[in-house]
Amino acid sequence: MRILIVEDDPDLCRQLSEALGDAGYAIDMATDGEEGHFLGDTEPYDAVVLDLGLPIIDGISILQKWRADGKDFPVLILTARDQWSEKVSGFDAGADDYLTKPFHTEELLARLRALVRRAAGHTTDTIDIGGLMVDNRAGRAFVDGAPVKLTSHEFRLLSYMAMHVGKVISRTELVEHIYDQDFDRDSNTIEVFVGRLRRKIGVKRIETVRGLGYRLVDPVTEEAEK
Ligand code: CA
Repeated sequence: MRILIVEDDPDLCRQLSEALGDAGYAIDMATDGEEGHFLGDTEPYDAVVLDLGLPIIDGISILQKWRADGKDFPVLILTARDQWSEKVSGFDAGADDYLTKPFHTEELLARLRALVRRAAGHTTDTIDIGGLMVDNRAGRAFVDGAPVKLTSHEFRLLSYMAMHVGKVISRTELVEHIYDQDFDRDSNTIEVFVGRLRRKIGVKRIETVRGLGYRLVDPVTEEAEK
């Protein structure tokens, strides 16, 4: 999962990117409204954390532009204390949730998890796919109850596929959702990651759809449908 943070306070920006990075997200950051708007306009984020008071373009205007352009990623706005009218304008502009500064990082993480899973159609942080359990809160996976040792990139890949279980996901889509902007993105490395993941969770759980991409499946129901 990949998150955009638009925040002009450098300390808060650093703090957020560390916390979200530790939680397993790929992070892009923008410290002014122009760059923030551009990134959201051109990159497919799984969620955005958007400060409202920003240099060059304010948060509400950015959000209005994104929504007018059909961008549907979940947006959590950061508002100043005691500014109830900011929250109202934020929701009117298309925000999905808000936090008032100062806030606890844990609360931001919980709200982001909820936004990301809801956008993908899930109601809980844990996804069970025929004995493969992907726990997005703990950042861990289990096969038939036994923990699977995964690197952070492998978990990010698995987590994205689990959020979209049963759907064919192209390599480009995977690259866009598991790497940040500065990462050397080579779609061939996806093949390597998928290979490693298969060895760890079971070869039959990731299907290759020739020319289209990959699909995470429940091998038991797959077999029954054939
Ligand atoms: Ca600000």
